[in-house]
Amino acid sequence: MNIQISQAAQTGVRPADADLGFGTAFTDHMFVMDYSVDEGWHDPRIEPYANFEMSPAAMVFHYGQAIFEGLKAYKTPDNKIQLFRPRDNFKRMNRSAKGLCIPELDIDFVVDALKKLVKLEEQWIPDTLGTALYIRPTIVATDPCLGVRASYTFKFFMILCSVGAYYSEGFNPVKIWVSKDHVRAVRGGVGEFKTAGNYAASLNAGDKAKKEGYAQVMWLDALEMKYIEEVGAMNIFFVINDELVTPNLSGSILPGITRDSVITLAQKWGMKVSERKISIDEILSADEDGSLTEVFGSGTAAVISPVGEICYGDKTIHIGDGTSGKISMKLYDELTGIQYGKVEDTENWVEVI
Ligand SMILES: *Cc1c(COP(=O)(O)O)cnc(C)c1O
Repeated sequence: MNIQISQAAQTGVRPADADLGFGTAFTDHMFVMDYSVDEGWHDPRIEPYANFEMSPAAMVFHYGQAIFEGLKAYKTPDNKIQLFRPRDNFKRMNRSAKGLCIPELDIDFVVDALKKLVKLEEQWIPDTLGTALYIRPTIVATDPCLGVRASYTFKFFMILCSVGAYYSEGFNPVKIWVSKDHVRAVRGGVGEFKTAGNYAASLNAGDKAKKEGYAQVMWLDALEMKYIEEVGAMNIFFVINDELVTPNLSGSILPGITRDSVITLAQKWGMKVSERKISIDEILSADEDGSLTEVFGSGTAAVISPVGEICYGDKTIHIGDGTSGKISMKLYDELTGIQYGKVEDTENWVEVI
């Protein structure tokens, strides 16, 4: 399939690096292609970033048949552009697609298309440390039909935005709140897929946490409300007796690519790593007996997010001495080092454009 390219008549101006937030500074072009049963994925094109025209009956607006991904392109000190494990994002997108009755993508084709798009938008990639070009591949159901079934037509698009440094105010631990009333996902549902509805389901608890002064919600499993699943839209890790522990992928947890990278690096460094069930009670007692030394979240946006305080009902625990832990720091430095081309990529995670 040939990608049609139509250039934008005008190009925008990238905001100064210090003014970049997250998810608002969109670039001049986007990649789009459509799906129909007869033609499969077809009409791939790079065109000026613009609004879509869609029927108000388009299924995505009513029944939420939508999946997405999130990854970044980074500028290296010698001016190369790098993607971090992009094929893993599209593999995961295909898993999400299967889970939501959406047709799968040809991974080589979409990675090539992404490279073309990012290259075209090179001027939008900021280069101060911590900044990046965020990439949002998305598929939405477009059939104009209110009958409940899987759509027969879809739109795939990739939009890009320049994003600022996540840690512009320092690598500081955040406070998190364990929800006793809300759950994000349940085994057998769609928690392990990156679908829009999981985010909609998380908003109410997120709001409550923010009102109480917490940065994120820590989710417990929906069946017993006992086992820790994730924090916000990040996977979660604990260091207990020098062992790195993270919840196993139970079906309701999103299989993070950062999570996998953290596990791989820690094992390479000779750390013991366990993927298993971890109850909130285990964490409270590990805090009490002093064996819990670090807690951090992992995800593409923040890479590593140290946790300094956890509130569960009337109990609040403080982790470490209020600064970010050694292992969190080391993982953050190593991962960002690889992403920005400053540390050797021994795992072949990086694709240079
Ligand atoms: C995207 C996401 C993550 C993190 O995945 P990465 O591939 O590491 O960015 C974790 N949890 C949820 C719910 C997510 O949507």
